[in-house]
Amino acid sequence: MTEPEAGSAVTDLQTTAKPEGGGYRINGSKIFTTHSKYAELMLVYVRFGPGSDGIGSVLVDTKGQGVRFGKPSKFMSQEEWVQTYFENAFVPADMVVLKEGGFKKQIAGFNVERIGNAARSLALGRYAYERAREWAKQRKQFGRLLCEFQGLQWKFAEMKIKLDAGQLLLYRAAANADKGFPSAEETAIAKAFCNQAGFDVANEALQVMGGLGYTQEELVEYCARRCRGWMIAGGSIEILKNRIAEAVFERTFSQRAGKS
Ligand SMILES: Cc1cc2nc3c(=O)[nH]c(=O)nc-3n(C[C@H](O)[C@H](O)[C@H](O)COP(=O)(O)OP(=O)(O)OC[C@H]3O[C@@H](n4cnc5c(N)ncnc54)[C@H](O)[C@@H]3O)c2cc1C
Repeated sequence: MTEPEAGSAVTDLQTTAKPEGGGYRINGSKIFTTHSKYAELMLVYVRFGPGSDGIGSVLVDTKGQGVRFGKPSKFMSQEEWVQTYFENAFVPADMVVLKEGGFKKQIAGFNVERIGNAARSLALGRYAYERAREWAKQRKQFGRLLCEFQGLQWKFAEMKIKLDAGQLLLYRAAANADKGFPSAEETAIAKAFCNQAGFDVANEALQVMGGLGYTQEELVEYCARRCRGWMIAGGSIEILKNRIAEAVFERTFSQRAGKS
């Protein structure tokens, strides 16, 4: 999906699909695609025509002609991504997933990914919490167990509240998804909350574990780094809050300059 000039404003994407000889020629480039370096097939959002209605998607064989990878890079999580260039790459007609007009459907389906993203945030937050909880029950300072300090007890109480609340919001979004695609509003609320909760909890768990939490002897520091990315990936927390605000006020708010 993501391009150098189209991140949050994904409908600004510029990668084009032009009909030719029973298929399409693809031109453009994509960034931040997780694990793209290892992908044999990429689902690529493309523009068949102008505007949001001109957007659809195709499957591209990355071993085919006209597909080139740039310099490999890494996220903070150490997951790799690589800029991918499409230079007249040919896609046969049967590799078109959604033609123009398919964008709304594609994004509706993307809410499933968002539920998965939210679940991962919560799972890593929960792991870090459990690890810190075990630590606080055995680590002694000032002759007392860490769990006996009220300052730390309150941290654990807040972590528990965030994890439980996140889980219930996530269950609500997932449980209603059997009526078709998940509700955009419920998914946005669950993802925004779980992404923040997962990171906050992992970060506090790290704090409770002191120097050990900050080392790679433990997975807690990894949980914090990994959760950080999900606050941006798959629709940033800010963009999700824009979506929630639209549901609150029952109207759309254009984010574009010059439009109210
Ligand atoms: C770990 C990770 C994995 C990713 N994996 C993939 C992948 O597999 N495939 C893929 O296509 N992309 C992927 N991405 C890219 C991701 O979708 C984009 O980074 C994201 O959409 C934000 O775009 P941007 O980075 O260009 O930031 P920008 O859009 O430039 O935004 C910068 C900041 O401004 C805020 N902002 C922007 N517009 C508004 C607004 N209207 N109101 C309020 N705040 C706003 C954003 O929330 C953000 O904090 C991944 C990103 C990360 C971090």
